[in-house]
Amino acid sequence: MTAPLPVTLPPLRGELLSSWISRHANFYGVTPLTMLRHGLPDATSLGPIDLSLTKVHANQIAGMFGASPKLVHGLSFAGVPKVAHRFIAKSPMQRCARCTPSVAGPLPILRSGLQGWRITCPHCGEPYMNKTSSGGDWALARYRAAARRGETLLHNHAERGVETWLPPLEIARLLLMRRIPWRPPRDGDLWRYRLLGAIVPDFDDLLTKDSAFTFSPKHPILPLHIRPALLAGVAIIDHAGPPMLRMLQGHMMGDNKNRFVMATDHLVTPAIEWGPPQQMQLI
Ligand SMILES: [Zn+2]
Repeated sequence: MTAPLPVTLPPLRGELLSSWISRHANFYGVTPLTMLRHGLPDATSLGPIDLSLTKVHANQIAGMFGASPKLVHGLSFAGVPKVAHRFIAKSPMQRCARCTPSVAGPLPILRSGLQGWRITCPHCGEPYMNKTSSGGDWALARYRAAARRGETLLHNHAERGVETWLPPLEIARLLLMRRIPWRPPRDGDLWRYRLLGAIVPDFDDLLTKDSAFTFSPKHPILPLHIRPALLAGVAIIDHAGPPMLRMLQGHMMGDNKNRFVMATDHLVTPAIEWGPPQQMQLI
């Protein structure tokens, strides 16, 4: 058992585990990895600790800081479902001007800064601000209320394990599927369009104007100014229920239609015919 450090710094509200460890490293004048190894001698990098913290790790780190394992676990993302991992960025994408703490040393990282489903600060409720101005805010203003509902659905699923008829993080991934899996010889634009455009038509317009970002069901984190479209789509489907999935099946083509139907038909038709849901590879 590692002896507790002589001086420990309290975690900030909503702070990420690796950020807390890094602030101690700064305080003691060592590298963050050296700091982590004080508690976990076999650790090879600090990066994975936030997502893959085990119970044993949490106990050891808690011992090093003289804290409870529950507190350490709560600073990490170890409790979020696997499907949420894709929605967690590797570095902060957003900061709240009001809640960014002023402390000595490196700027702390809050868990909410990495959450690709957030458009508002969970601590004070303020909307996150875009780093660069764009037309997204204006074009998507009428989806604001639905987007806030979608944000709450995704948050409750990722952070509180709340079950719904179709997990909101899965809905988000389905909505980012291409409607057509190949580039057709004519009508080149259709290939770019995502299923989300069938529910939030402004999404396709924004895509046409701004193609500088990449995303897919595998990389579902959208830039902040376009994120409300996806969140609104999730809220609309969650509210409408399975009949809307049946309608959306009609918007898909080719192999992607087959993938979508296989991923959703157990919800659209009686379970007795289809059995348990299948994990599909979405492209
Ligand atoms: Zn805030």
